[in-house]
Amino acid sequence: MRTLDVIIPCYNEEPCIDLIYQHLSETLNACDDLQWSVIFVDDGSSDHTLEKIKQLSGCTPDGPVRYVSFSRNFGKESAIYAGLSYSTAEYVVLMDADLQHPPELLPQMMEALEEGYDCCGAKRVTRGGEPPVRSMLSKAFYRLTNIFMNVDLHNGGSDFQMMKRPVVEAMLSMPERGRFTKGILSWVGFETKWIEYENVERVAGTTKWSVRSLTRYALSGIISFSKAPFLWAVWLGGLIDLAALVAAVIFIVRIAVRGGVWGPSILIVLGLFFMGTVFILLGMLGEYMAQIYQEVQRRPVFIVKQTNISK
Ligand code: UDP
Ligand code: MG
Repeated sequence: MRTLDVIIPCYNEEPCIDLIYQHLSETLNACDDLQWSVIFVDDGSSDHTLEKIKQLSGCTPDGPVRYVSFSRNFGKESAIYAGLSYSTAEYVVLMDADLQHPPELLPQMMEALEEGYDCCGAKRVTRGGEPPVRSMLSKAFYRLTNIFMNVDLHNGGSDFQMMKRPVVEAMLSMPERGRFTKGILSWVGFETKWIEYENVERVAGTTKWSVRSLTRYALSGIISFSKAPFLWAVWLGGLIDLAALVAAVIFIVRIAVRGGVWGPSILIVLGLFFMGTVFILLGMLGEYMAQIYQEVQRRPVFIVKQTNISK
């Protein structure tokens, strides 16, 4: 008998809970030889998400509904980590609550694992229905990460991924606080099959991400998987020094040949240039320091308020 845990992080997803469960039941009950269960991770919702989940867990003929509820909103990444650490099945899949990750793909993903892959990820081939600013930023992010990161992120690859237990254990073995699941999944390795799907719009409720929170998330993702900006800073510093040297030679020669003083304006330009550079470098150093600080603090990734899972 195959076992599957479906992990669903939920933050104010009241209207989606019943819908996603219904879709999961329809799809998964049709699979032979499968024992499945859902782990809802309520990420400190302020609506009736938890009540909805509790209602379901009280009356589930199809598969048990388990839940973990956080004491406050810790973010999707913490919710994923919690879900993984409470999962027990042989196969585990990460899914959004809003049906943007079509449950219909699950049988195909299980097949991939049975074929021998360790992981099966879903990759969006269209971004239809997404605000243009968001797709633009998202594309820019993937382009940037390919330059900066030392892990390879699949463009369009979502965190809708099904994995075998060893992959789950590997992910759990990375206890970092600033978590970035796509990066972690790529970093732990294993063989992944990508299947494609068309982007679907959220079935109910609204997105929980703002451009600001996404930018912060992307930056933190880049920093947690790359030391490249450091190297770039060193190169930049070197280039600027070289430019300063060349400029100095030119000034000396020009003044020696033609005489005159026109230095002040150049000094101002150079001064500003250096100041800007110093700020860029300080910003980069600051980001690393912030990350180190966060890791050193070793705060728990989540604090469970209540759960019906005994560990
Ligand atoms: N989510 C969460 N905690 C948060 C933000 C989001 O658990 O702080 C969940 C959310 O409930 C949903 C999933 O993460 O199940 C994806 O969120 P959303 O659909 O808002 O993101 P988008 O699809 O717009 O990227
Ligand atoms: Mg969504």
